[in-house]
Amino acid sequence: MKIENIDSKVVVRRELFEKTFQRLTYLGSVVPKLSFYLVNEETMDKICPPRKGYDDEGECLDSLKNLSEKVNSENIDKVLGEIWEGLQRCKTKVYSALACYCNNSIYICPERIKSDRLFPFVLIHELVHAYLDSKNKVHGEVIEESIANAVALLHYRNSEVFELINGQTAEYKGCYFWLRSFHRNYLISHILDHLRRGDLVEFIDKYYYYLAYYLDLDIVRPWRYFWLWFYPFDFEKLLYTSYLHYRDKGNKQPFYKALEIVILKYVAESKK
Ligand SMILES: [Zn+2]
Repeated sequence: MKIENIDSKVVVRRELFEKTFQRLTYLGSVVPKLSFYLVNEETMDKICPPRKGYDDEGECLDSLKNLSEKVNSENIDKVLGEIWEGLQRCKTKVYSALACYCNNSIYICPERIKSDRLFPFVLIHELVHAYLDSKNKVHGEVIEESIANAVALLHYRNSEVFELINGQTAEYKGCYFWLRSFHRNYLISHILDHLRRGDLVEFIDKYYYYLAYYLDLDIVRPWRYFWLWFYPFDFEKLLYTSYLHYRDKGNKQPFYKALEIVILKYVAESKK
């Protein structure tokens, strides 16, 4: 594992990296393969140029609060396509990266992180991207950024972290979508693993039928917590229909798109 300061003027002690790595469990497997580089703002913007994220401060995402009820397994692709197109108009909030993952390297800009109390959170977020880096993954950036924040929060949190998330764009705030049910580290690690393999919908399909059965038989089985996640799953018609569509046609893409939309919808609905 290499840690190198390319051109940052801020000194980051190696100990801060080490203390963060000590918090890791399953994510620890990716650390030895990675190189870590400290860079200044200018270099950061060259490696990972500023991007536009979903703005939840205006009214744009509010359209998600009243999604079409006329969705079924036949028209799901078209309905999702229309919602998605509308959503792209909400991608207006420009943000510069504090850190980014790219080709087995994690670039960190200490000038932008500012506090040692944010550093572990930012670093773990990037480790999740490294963990999910796989040829098999099929999910998009809303899923990726929201779950990366969720996993990082499960490992490390304080008031400064919550403040940081509060200023982030909607796909990052989507972490709370995951955390309302997956408040345990070992459960979200399963989701992460199946996202990496690109078989989350197959996994859900397999367990959907066994769950109720296990629930009655053995209440200490951790799988029972999955049931909590199936509440929104049942009630979010878009997600449930895309799952039925997968069962009918074997096409799993709509499920991932629906999940991204449902995550953004959750953010829009949680707004005060
Ligand atoms: Zn990220």
